[in-house]
Amino acid sequence: MIDFELSPKIKQTQKMLRMFAEQALRPIARHFDENEHEKPEDLLKMVHSFMKGGLGGSLSGGKSKEEEKGGEKKKSERNLATAVTVEEIFWGDAGIALAFPGPGLGGAAVQATGTPEQKERFLARFQGEKPVWGAMAITEPEAGSDTANIRTTAVKDGNEWVLNGEKIFVTAGKSALEDSEGFVVVWATVDPKAGRAGIKPFIVEHGTPGMKITKIEDKMGIRCSDTVSISFMDCRIPEDNILGSPEVIDTTKTKGFKGVMATFDATRPLVAAMAIGVGRAALDFLKDTLASEDFQVRYPISPNRMTAIERDIIEMEANLKAARLLTWRAVWMLDNGQRNSLEASMAKAKAGLAVTQITQKCVELMGPLGYSRKYLLEKWMRDAKINDIFEGTGQIQMLITARNVLGFGRDKLK
Ligand SMILES: Cc1cc2nc3c(=O)[nH]c(=O)nc-3n(C[C@H](O)[C@H](O)[C@H](O)COP(=O)(O)OP(=O)(O)OC[C@H]3O[C@@H](n4cnc5c(N)ncnc54)[C@H](O)[C@@H]3O)c2cc1C
Repeated sequence: MIDFELSPKIKQTQKMLRMFAEQALRPIARHFDENEHEKPEDLLKMVHSFMKGGLGGSLSGGKSKEEEKGGEKKKSERNLATAVTVEEIFWGDAGIALAFPGPGLGGAAVQATGTPEQKERFLARFQGEKPVWGAMAITEPEAGSDTANIRTTAVKDGNEWVLNGEKIFVTAGKSALEDSEGFVVVWATVDPKAGRAGIKPFIVEHGTPGMKITKIEDKMGIRCSDTVSISFMDCRIPEDNILGSPEVIDTTKTKGFKGVMATFDATRPLVAAMAIGVGRAALDFLKDTLASEDFQVRYPISPNRMTAIERDIIEMEANLKAARLLTWRAVWMLDNGQRNSLEASMAKAKAGLAVTQITQKCVELMGPLGYSRKYLLEKWMRDAKINDIFEGTGQIQMLITARNVLGFGRDKLK
């Protein structure tokens, strides 16, 4: 049975993180928005030593394990705990949260597609004393939503793979490449004729010759997080840095590419949780400001007696709760070893759209105060939008949802 009553342990973590978000992140949020590409180094070190056994490991999301306790099997709540953690930290600040060290999307790809030996080899480094960053590069100038169009190639040469191509918009790419233990998971085709089946993930480690940052983005929101373009020119990596099997199994199917989907099953609900954190920040700010002027929403009254602002606030709260319930269902399924592709896409589609609308509405209702840089509300409006773009846009999540619900393949519903 699905039970969304949070365990005492998660509630305690939630309370602690709320304090951390309020006291450590909020006061520096504006500085790191205005000074893009600067990072709160001391805070990031502190976060790493505090979270390396918890969030740092679990931000990569992933398959649940049944945990053994006193001889009894106990269901994992790792992904639910991560979603709650992510919401609280992103309530504090989305840009700084995205700059936190950890496996990130790269770790999620290793978790979803690596062999047990590869997971041990590449994920253990995130538990060490030093903060480490992972990143994942799928997007290319000609391949965004249409990932089958990936042109980066990986050609086997002796006991190495040789990568050539260009990746754009890689979150934490700079952090991962500058970090002596960092890596980027690069999706490249081993057989361009094989379509999706030929696309495989490769680990490219810090310092590999032929891998170079070619551009650092200047962004609208999440400005503390670095986003870069990376080129690969005759970039040689060891043959066992391909994640999973090099075999192109069935070119009529999407076998090789299933790893991307498995990665997203784990991370899309977390992007939804990020969105919810930002949306809640905006809504809390609006309600607190109104409360300071003695305005309270009269919840029990009938809709035809409500004021327009009461109706707006109640609608925003309902949308945020709906997004959270979809998100918690998606992570609950992961924790219980169930396939959650549909639910992960539903959660991300709902949360991305809801917070884009909520943050805009809050700015509108606050009037000039919403637009002023004196408060963080205008920043949250800028930060929120990315949740409707990366890891698959809102439109693509709705397309995946429609395909699943209607039972149509990619060929029928494009
Ligand atoms: C700040 C930031 C960080 C990012 N981080 C990463 C990262 O770490 N790794 C990575 O690989 N990528 C990353 N990305 C890239 C991101 O995932 C892509 O931008 C996204 O998938 C969309 O691809 P695109 O930009 O090529 O847009 P396009 O695919 O060209 O889409 C343009 C518009 O058309 C719509 N559209 C496209 N196809 C359809 C369709 N079939 N039906 C309806 N609408 C459609 C889209 O929804 C969108 O609105 C990041 C992007 C940003 C902005």
